[in-house]
Amino acid sequence: MIDFHCHLDLYPDPWRVAERSEQLGLRLLSVTTVPSAWSGTAALERDRIHTALGFHPQLALERVKEISLFAELLPRTRFVGEVGLDGAPEFRASWHAQVEIFERILRLCADRGGRILTLHSRRATEPVLDRIEAVPDAGTPVLHWFSGSAGELRRAIDLGCWFSVGPSMLAGKRGRALAARMPRDRVLTESDGPFGRVESRSAFPWDVDRAVRVLAETWGMDLREAEQQLENNLDRLMETAGAS
Ligand code: MN
Repeated sequence: MIDFHCHLDLYPDPWRVAERSEQLGLRLLSVTTVPSAWSGTAALERDRIHTALGFHPQLALERVKEISLFAELLPRTRFVGEVGLDGAPEFRASWHAQVEIFERILRLCADRGGRILTLHSRRATEPVLDRIEAVPDAGTPVLHWFSGSAGELRRAIDLGCWFSVGPSMLAGKRGRALAARMPRDRVLTESDGPFGRVESRSAFPWDVDRAVRVLAETWGMDLREAEQQLENNLDRLMETAGAS
């Protein structure tokens, strides 16, 4: 199983979640929300648990000074996220700071030869895609919890984006319809835990099995085939990005 977008450090007991994930053989990308959280979160790494260096758009304004720490830490990881833009009304005041930070991060990634990026694009699909298009050398974008229109999805696919989809997204009709249009060789699963939810509780990395079930149904595969498709996808992503 794969959880390609999980906030491991934000669970009440991150060590336990990491340990359980390892026992279950999960391949996990542990994302961070601010650069200052990276070192502590990286301490949770295991064989199959990687840590991404992030700068969440919702924190861009209050943490703007951490961009220098981001630049300093970037050489230490091949994974960047959670980064991106959030166009919801409650974050309008920070929009300019968000754009400045996100553009800076994309350029830093390009300067360092590219990274695998897990991207937040809530209510900001077009602006995120515009920036990806402007800095193609930033690396391989993985749009997490995509919630744009069918047209925006088409554009994202044409730009070479990958997608990580989770149980929360696939619980609704709209999310399922979008997932059905994604190229199946560019799809990964995610929990977005502890923010992602299943049955009114925080999602854990192993809850991605629910997403695998939906994808198997969507793709007309049995569970094992769908699992294999997802594992092959991640192998390929790691290879193209030169990460191990
Ligand atoms: Mn997230």
